[in-house]
This record gives sequence, C-alpha cells and structure tokens, in this order.
Amino acid sequence: QVVNYAPFTLLPSAVPSALFEQAYAVQQDFNLLVDSISQNKEFLERTLASTIKVDDFTARLFRIYMQVLEEGLAQSVFLGINRSDYMFDCGVDGTPALKQIEINTIAASFGGLTSRTAAVHGRVLKVLGKPKEASHLLPNNPSKGLALGIVKAWELYGSQSAVVMFVVEEVQRNIFDQRCIENELWDRNIQVIRRRFSDVFEKGSLDDARRLYMDGQEVAVVYYREGYMPKNYNQQNWEARLLLERSRAVKCPDIATQLAGTKKVQQELSRPGTLEELLSGHTEAVTRIRATFAGLYSLDMGKEGDKIAAMAIADPDRFVLKPQREGGGNNLYGEELRQVLEKIRDSPERTSYILMDKIKPQPALNYLLRAHSPLQVSECISELGIFGVYVRQGKEMVMNTAAGHLLRTKAIEHADGGVAAGVAVLDTPYLV
Ligand code: ADP
Ligand code: MG
Repeated sequence: QVVNYAPFTLLPSAVPSALFEQAYAVQQDFNLLVDSISQNKEFLERTLASTIKVDDFTARLFRIYMQVLEEGLAQSVFLGINRSDYMFDCGVDGTPALKQIEINTIAASFGGLTSRTAAVHGRVLKVLGKPKEASHLLPNNPSKGLALGIVKAWELYGSQSAVVMFVVEEVQRNIFDQRCIENELWDRNIQVIRRRFSDVFEKGSLDDARRLYMDGQEVAVVYYREGYMPKNYNQQNWEARLLLERSRAVKCPDIATQLAGTKKVQQELSRPGTLEELLSGHTEAVTRIRATFAGLYSLDMGKEGDKIAAMAIADPDRFVLKPQREGGGNNLYGEELRQVLEKIRDSPERTSYILMDKIKPQPALNYLLRAHSPLQVSECISELGIFGVYVRQGKEMVMNTAAGHLLRTKAIEHADGGVAAGVAVLDTPYLV
C-alpha cells in the first residue's frame, strides 16, 4: 500500500577491474559446480548428514529431496539461476583479493532493479558535470539474462500453452524486482502467473504424467522467489512444496539445487580434494573456483571441530559464525559469536553452524539514499554479486552464462544484512 524507491548509493563505488573480471570469469565454473552437486546424491547425503540431525529446516528440505528421488524424477529439464557474492578482502600489503561470501541458489534477487541502477548513477554523474565518468559505467541487464534462462527452460519443456509460475511470498515487498523479469517473459509471449504456496496447496494438482496444473493451466516452469526460510513454511506450504518438486515442471531451483546452496555444502567444498572430486576433468575451473575461497571450517563433532571451536572462541573477531539460513541477519560476529560458541561448544548443536574467516574490505565514503532517512555520508563497504544462469536437459548443458552483476553497499557499522534486510543499498561498480 506504500511504494518507496529502492535504496541506492548517491555515487557509484570503485571496484578493481581485475577482480570484477575474475568474478565474471569464474561464474560458469560455479554454474557447473552447483549443477554437479545437485546431481550427486552421495555427496549431499554425506555432507549434510551431521547438519540434518540438528537443523530442522535443512532436514525437512532433505526429506523432500529423498522422497522425490525415491519416486523417480519426472523433471528432465533443469534451470539454475544463482548469484555468487564476493567482497574484496584487503590483505596485509593492502592488495585487494576477490573472496566469495556465499552462492545463492534460490530466489537470488535484485537482478531486476539493478538493471536500472547504472542509468541512475550515470544521470547523477552527468548532473555533477562528469559526463566522461558517466560513460565509463558498464551496461548491465540481469533481468534479461535471467529471463532468457527461463525462456530456454520453457521452450525445452515443450508446451506452447503452458505458463511460468512465480512462487511469491504472502506479503511481497520486492515485487518490482520480480516484475522486471516477468515483463521480459511477457515480451516474448510467455504467460506468467504469480502464486503463493497456499494457492498451490489449494488449487495445484498433478496428472498421471505428473504434469503440474494451477487453476486448469499447465505450468512449465516454477520460479521460486520464496521458500528459502523456515518462516516461509507451515504444514500446508510444505505439502505444496512437495507437490511442486514431484512434478514434471522445471523448478528453479529444484530441491537438490537448493540444498547445494547451503552453507554446510559451501564449507565442505573448501576441503582439499572435494572440488576435484565434483569437477573431475575440469582442472582449470577448480583452480579458478578455489582462488575465491576464504577460510571455511567445519564444526562437526570430533577433534577437528573441537580445535576450530577453541580457535574461534580465542579470537572471535577473525571469524563469522553462520547457521544454515538465508536472507541476511542470521550470522554471528565478535563477542556474540564467542558467547554462543562457548555455550554450544560441546553440544552437537554446534554442527548446525559453519565458521568462516571474516573478510575485511577497505571502506570508502558514500551517501546511502533511503526513503524517509536523513542524508549523511557513511564509511561503506561493497559486495559484488554475479548472476549465473544455466539450463540442462538430461545430461546435456544447453546454456551456461554469466547474466550480469549486482553491487550492494552498506555502512561498515552493519556486520550483516542485504538490501531486503534494510541494511545494504543498490550501487553500480565504477571500474578502476
Ligand atoms: P545470507 O544467506 O543471510 O545472505 P551471507 O553469508 O551472505 O548470508 O551473509 C550475510 C552478510 O553478512 C553478507 O552480505 C556480508 O555482508 C556479511 N558476511 C558474511 N560472511 C562474511 C565474511 N566471511 N566476512 C565478512 N562479512 C561477511
Ligand atoms: Mg548473502
């Protein structure tokens, strides 16, 4: 009922061009990796075994995953839309390095709104009498890139009359971001419907071939913009999710790909040998991926986990403690990290977390513009995201692209949180 502009920085932020290019260059590798994990039952089972004993949300997702596999997949076309996020870690000698924060494999957002931010910042620079600098800003259109993935999946599904269904939240604050992608689909004569899990529970059904129907319309692609947090689910919503996963429709992402994006999987990927196992034969991809990893540590029960817990308690400012959650505002830092870890250090509860080296970027000054907030200059740090899109049919990759970028900037006093969490704002990289 109230429309606000999306928050943004007044000025674009400097981003080292070598790191920007590095982030783009590794995106297709990450697409391959996520896709490979999603097809590796043995790896997912082994990796998530300790987590699902203590984390109910991951356990429920995992149960759906197993149930769908037992029945046999009806889905043969797979669509991944992810966003790999990075910060520029400032080493001891001051040289920045690209370090991955996480990869989001479900509901990765702001590809729509950020397709407009370069134009906003270009205008600001012109108003400031800097047309040359304005022309230096790169065009960026993830809306289109994401939509092209959906289009490809829709085509391969192969039914002209079938629709694309966006699964959205009960109260959707970020609707305009989604509309940007939706518009690209309508422009290509693909019909889009928006439904909640509760609608799917009430009106969704499968036929004998497990084709998915909503209100009598066949659904070719299900694009989740929800379903990644425990609060998105009640019993009925879990049943709706199961129905969708059992269907022949292309889910973006399918449940396996959602699990591939858990923080526990991220931590296991950093173990020596794991990438080599998952991407065997792709030696260069493995090297490019590993170069972006920060230190990641398992808190599984046993000697290794005991040592890690003690190390973090002794020096909490060096680390971030992360539970298996998405959406910002869940991680623990500093004194709070120490207190929580001290309390659970001898309990299996600690295995619901992973530990990560804290990345320390060089702050820069900018103005953060937010509706109804006073304007003031802040010391800021930025996080760069690259959108990845891929489509697989059976065993064959038919699309694998980097579809654009997102730069989010926040004041340094906030350790955590994205744009939706009200902390970060939209930005544009100014390559230096
Ligand atoms: P979420 O799934 O909630 O988005 P993230 O892993 O992306 O979880 O963490 C949320 C935010 O916390 C990030 O956007 C970043 O600002 C901060 N953060 C996460 N990991 C680190 C890290 N290793 N070092 C510094 N800041 C971090
Ligand atoms: Mg994040």
